[in-house]
Amino acid sequence: MKFITYSYENKECVGILTEQGVMPLTEFTSMIDLIENFSEDVFKENFLGYIPLNEVKLLAPIPRPRRNILCLGKNYEDHAKELGATKISDKFIPDDPIYFTKSADAVIGTNDYIKFFPEVTNQVDYEVELAVIIGKEGVNIKPDEAEHYIFGYTIINDVSARDLQLRHKQWFKAKSLDTFCPMGPCIVHKSKLPFPIELDIKCSVNGEVRQNSNTSKFIFDIPYMISDLSKGFTLKPGDIIATGTPSGVGFGFNPSKFLKDGDIVECYVEGIGSLINIVKAV
Ligand code: MG
Repeated sequence: MKFITYSYENKECVGILTEQGVMPLTEFTSMIDLIENFSEDVFKENFLGYIPLNEVKLLAPIPRPRRNILCLGKNYEDHAKELGATKISDKFIPDDPIYFTKSADAVIGTNDYIKFFPEVTNQVDYEVELAVIIGKEGVNIKPDEAEHYIFGYTIINDVSARDLQLRHKQWFKAKSLDTFCPMGPCIVHKSKLPFPIELDIKCSVNGEVRQNSNTSKFIFDIPYMISDLSKGFTLKPGDIIATGTPSGVGFGFNPSKFLKDGDIVECYVEGIGSLINIVKAV
């Protein structure tokens, strides 16, 4: 099941993306409402027909997260090494996950613009990431129980202003500028993806593949990150965990390949789809 949030006749709705079109789920007021009250039976009882996909505008699956996006830094060894070749980090492979957050207000959907002010940053970079959506509240979750707390998966582009990341030392602002958190196009329910999650993950800019890896290469896998993050920290339904990015970010090339006005960025994860955004200097 691919769950989407979409705009139709000026209303924000949730539904299921199918080959026949969009199946509206009118009994839910939002994706978070759906996550909290999920039951497969509800869908069978309330079938209202399909809306053609071209009549709706896809929004981020969770357009207004309740709190910031929870993120892991350096969770693929090749990316940790590529950052070692730049000034942003040492070559250190972390012994423990590196956590930071991105502002919930930075979220945009597929086909929305990634905007930046050239006088604020001229080093805008992409980072394709698999994002885990939490389905159930929990604290001190054991690794072998982690899957029970997952609702599903989506894609996040952890857009980053590298010059601000260097200047401020702490990554929050560099990764929280307006529009710097594209998310989508859908949330795939966990029942549709085999666990552990081993999915191809790619990012291309104007058709040129820059990042190309597989989530089996995580330094800290999903059970570990859910277990570790939830130690003394309650995870809640609708929480979003961005699991880190593989190598191939623009900052890792020599010379660097930063995003510029008009670039088309496509973030792809096998089994989920493509999150596509155009970059706009404003
Ligand atoms: Mg990242």
